[in-house]
Amino acid sequence: MADRDGFIWYDGKLVPWREATTHVLTHTLHYGMGVFEGVRAYKTDKGPAIFRLQDHTDRLFRSAHILGMKMPFDKETLNAAQKEVVRVNQLESGYLRPMAFYGAEAMGISAKTLSTHVIVAAWPWGAYLGQEALEKGIRVKTSSFSRHHVNITMCKAKANGNYMNSILAHREAEHDGYDEALLLDVDGFVAEGSGENIFIVRRGKLYTPDLTSALEGITRDTIIQLAGELGIPVIEKRITRDEVYSADEAFFTGTAAEVTPIRELDNRSIGAGTRGPITTQLQAMYFDCVQGRSAKHADWLSHV
Ligand code: PMP
Repeated sequence: MADRDGFIWYDGKLVPWREATTHVLTHTLHYGMGVFEGVRAYKTDKGPAIFRLQDHTDRLFRSAHILGMKMPFDKETLNAAQKEVVRVNQLESGYLRPMAFYGAEAMGISAKTLSTHVIVAAWPWGAYLGQEALEKGIRVKTSSFSRHHVNITMCKAKANGNYMNSILAHREAEHDGYDEALLLDVDGFVAEGSGENIFIVRRGKLYTPDLTSALEGITRDTIIQLAGELGIPVIEKRITRDEVYSADEAFFTGTAAEVTPIRELDNRSIGAGTRGPITTQLQAMYFDCVQGRSAKHADWLSHV
């Protein structure tokens, strides 16, 4: 990742990719206190467009607010920076990574005197779990790691340190031959994937866990809106793993994972063991929106 051509927006300036470095005593590197976003830009007929840019920027600022990190730039500047990195890196489509992190002025837990730095990078990135995953679905394993408790880390913040939990879960699932992990909350109810929200379908209705310990996903919100337009009821409630086993369909949502069908959980096939009809319909609608084919949701796209 570090050795490539291009530019990264770094504290207000475009810096050549290889020079966008930081000191080894950077506070966030040691303690994980930082916030970030994962955003996608898609190729459309009118050129590249960023999907739900303002919503991602708003969540970045909410995350910083939750952690008590002062953002040195305003939202308009960061919106412009995200468009700029897509432009200057000449991307038709890609993944964007805005991040705010503490500087290297001091070590120790007190972060009082630290400056906050902000970067925005962008690079080409295809289907997160592979193209086949989008068509056929993935095999998932319930993790031995619980999702964060709401009073241990801040689950509504997309915070760097929270992702140690995701990496442990994902690594375990991958090691055991699965594509992704499903994390349960500390009470044993379904929370989310390592980087995705989850939905299940039963008898024509969609169910998704409430947001107690899951990230408030922007794709999740998109799917809830699209399901509403199709007249599919969406119920937010506590879900157990055996409800997922016996669901008609299940899928993950996320900016990176988009709408990825789950064909199997813990070696039980879900429904017909393939992408189900409601998943197929919502996934197609999602791609219509992100790729600029939905006149109704043109306002979700920010052309660069
Ligand atoms: N949960 C977690 C833990 C995530 O990392 C992500 C990805 N940001 C999501 C859910 C999905 O969020 P979004 O749809 O906004 O990408």
